[in-house]
Amino acid sequence: MIGGGVAGASIAYHLTELGWRDIVLVERAELTAGSTFHSAGLVGQLRSSVTLTRMMMYGVSLYRRLFEETGVDPGWHEVGSLRLASSRERFEELRRLAGWGQTFGLPLEIVSTERALELWGGLFDPTGVQGAAFLPTDGYLDPSGLTMALAEGARRRGAQILTGARVVGIEVERGAVRGVRLQDHDPIATQVVVNAGGMYAHQIGRLADVAVPVVPFAHQYVLTTPIEGVRPEIPTMRDPDRLVYFRPEAGGALVVGGYERNPAPWAVEKGPPPNFNSTLLPEDWERFEPLAEGAFGLVPATQRAQIVRLINGPEAFTPDGEFILGESEIRGFFVAAGFCAHGIAGAGGIGKVMAEWIVDGEPEYDVWKMDIRRFGGHYRSRRYALVRAYEVYATYYDIHYPNEERSAGRPLKTSPAYISLRELGAEFGEKAGWERANWIRSNEDPAFEGLRPRGWAGQHWSTAIPAEVLATRERGGLFDESSFAKIEVSGDGACAFLQWICANDVDREVGRVVYTQLLNRRGGVESDLTAVRLDHDRFRLVTGTAFGTHDLAWIRKQLAARGDRGVEVRDVTGSIVCFALWGPRARETLAELTTESLDFGYMRARPVVVGSTPCLAARVTYVGEFGWELYAPVEYGAALWRDLLQAGREHGVVPCGYRAIDALRLEKGYRAWGSDLTPEDTPLEAGLGFAVAFEKGEFLGREALEKQQAEGIARRLSCLVLADPRAMALGNEPVFSDGRVVGRVTSGGVGYAVGRSIAYAYLPAELSGVGRRLEIEVFGERVPAEVAAEPLYDPSGERVRA
Ligand SMILES: Cc1cc2nc3c(=O)[nH]c(=O)nc-3n(C[C@H](O)[C@H](O)[C@H](O)COP(=O)(O)OP(=O)(O)OC[C@H]3O[C@@H](n4cnc5c(N)ncnc54)[C@H](O)[C@@H]3O)c2cc1C
Repeated sequence: MIGGGVAGASIAYHLTELGWRDIVLVERAELTAGSTFHSAGLVGQLRSSVTLTRMMMYGVSLYRRLFEETGVDPGWHEVGSLRLASSRERFEELRRLAGWGQTFGLPLEIVSTERALELWGGLFDPTGVQGAAFLPTDGYLDPSGLTMALAEGARRRGAQILTGARVVGIEVERGAVRGVRLQDHDPIATQVVVNAGGMYAHQIGRLADVAVPVVPFAHQYVLTTPIEGVRPEIPTMRDPDRLVYFRPEAGGALVVGGYERNPAPWAVEKGPPPNFNSTLLPEDWERFEPLAEGAFGLVPATQRAQIVRLINGPEAFTPDGEFILGESEIRGFFVAAGFCAHGIAGAGGIGKVMAEWIVDGEPEYDVWKMDIRRFGGHYRSRRYALVRAYEVYATYYDIHYPNEERSAGRPLKTSPAYISLRELGAEFGEKAGWERANWIRSNEDPAFEGLRPRGWAGQHWSTAIPAEVLATRERGGLFDESSFAKIEVSGDGACAFLQWICANDVDREVGRVVYTQLLNRRGGVESDLTAVRLDHDRFRLVTGTAFGTHDLAWIRKQLAARGDRGVEVRDVTGSIVCFALWGPRARETLAELTTESLDFGYMRARPVVVGSTPCLAARVTYVGEFGWELYAPVEYGAALWRDLLQAGREHGVVPCGYRAIDALRLEKGYRAWGSDLTPEDTPLEAGLGFAVAFEKGEFLGREALEKQQAEGIARRLSCLVLADPRAMALGNEPVFSDGRVVGRVTSGGVGYAVGRSIAYAYLPAELSGVGRRLEIEVFGERVPAEVAAEPLYDPSGERVRA
């Protein structure tokens, strides 16, 4: 374990809890010498993702018991937290949060401004405050105390803690870690190394040639002199509209911090200096000014208080504001860093997840959003990591509406259709560095304005979305899917290897396309993709844009675990374009560009020359219409796109974007990995039993599925239709049955062809029958919903096979 901050201590604690004893935690200075000693110590549980919230909740349950268990006091104060709303939009956000909180059983309630004021001793100015969210089980603690308690727990169970031991080298052999070299100490041979180096994690990663895109930023708070009325048991308080947070301090003082809009990155390129231990940065009053203004405005008593200290400490932020956890591409080299000023709140969960990952190979929770494998090669660029992290920090307290796009570092990766799409008026979004058309402005049609969803869902929306959906259903749509990740698996052992990692049977004839999931040992879905057999010993796997690095790493990990020789796995994403042509007029359109036969069946792929471009045409669809995905070498991309666009024009085929795909797939009931499907859900629960080939023999995850089948499926992914077609679930809303929360929306949206507002959710099996009436809470309003037979669109599949 490299790093004696709160993260390293917690991972050591949890590893020993799982029974590991042979652990050395090495720290170059003293425990807590990095970011941990100067943390403000606030612990809030409700976060933007399911897993992170569960991790935080676990943390609180741990902090409550640590003193008793270890004899070291982490100083846990369960005083609750208030989050104020100083605008109407913020109040809507709170109502959404409250719904979200209910799905976890968190006792979060929306309280009036008067009640919030009462809880806070009448100390803030209620002018303009519209209400607050109160979570009584949040609190604050002493970050050093917490670290010492965790370290003591680990030590008692056998872990060794070596301070004053700087790691100067990491031994790697044939892609696996073998040990660490220390300054002034003997080297340590080991097959597992955890980089818990906080803001130094990037430098430590470099020792193993692993990119850890953490970026240090200076983060500040002040400590005031005691203020009359401040008691240690008042809740912590945040006012995002004023960019500030508060917590009480012993003796009646206040800690006041926040997220300024002009953040200060620090030591980005070279990393913190070697002697930067237990050290702060110089006070930066100018940068603190907007926070001081926010604090003075909200809590007038702070104007009269003196500032005892301004603490300016660096902390590791990440390019997307999520933690960086998991095993890197070097086997046995794990990373746990980049906690974006939430490492104290997160420490318990970080320790639990990492220890399970190391000991069991996979954590219990779905950790994809935090997985180090989510980053593509471009995150090796410090400049790119910096601009992305800067934007996240500067907009931390903004309201983030669904489907919001970020702007930093763009454009980066573009497809050969990019310029044409731009000329057509594409509104681009970004995924994994790729520019992708969300919709095309030239398709906008004011006639569809009446379909704009109410509230937040109508924010990043265009009439072009329903126009493109309906064009695809009625005539045809042309989609640039070049960003889809493509992985080739080849060699003598390729088929046998894929038969092991895929739940479906991929050992089919050349030209066959197979839809399959890759499962973990628990039967959870690690990846959802299509596999095309290009030759007897060569397959192409096609997966989502954002999942390429993850899927590739998963596949390589399974390959390494099996020790298969003669199997090559390659990422070919950038060398092959993919354009999809779907809809009733797809055939006429393509027929104009080729003399070759297009009479091959659904889930088959054939070489077809289109215009002057040699393509592989695959009869697959993610929108539920007849048509093809056309794969071609990238150098033909621009010509192929131009030919398809031109040929399509006469038939009313229009270029379309990804938001249309999402609406189309939703009404067709196609699942999306990351929301409807996660490593915690099995294909049987997700209604994908048809893609599991039990008859083919052994495969990874089979045992778990068989067990589940024998015991009965307890929860099912179900399609719900909302009674109000303009109320739109965005994901994560609670689902109620008889006033009780029974599920959480995985994905939602409007199906424009079926004219319904749709939400998917895992429901207890006994509540998943068609016709079951339930309710979904959308922004604090309970909207009646009913379980529907799925798919809603073209249930017989006629359109696809046409
Ligand atoms: C001003 C401020 C306020 C904050 N407030 C909050 C808050 O209210 N709530 C919250 O949850 N979080 C907060 N945080 C964030 C929190 O403090 C951090 O997320 C957390 O402390 C990070 O812990 P860590 O173990 O990852 O890193 P660190 O504490 O930085 O630990 C990394 C350790 O690695 C050691 N190390 C580095 N290189 C080597 C090497 N080569 N060999 C051996 N050892 C090495 C370092 O000496 C260091 O001790 C705040 C941070 C700041 C700066």
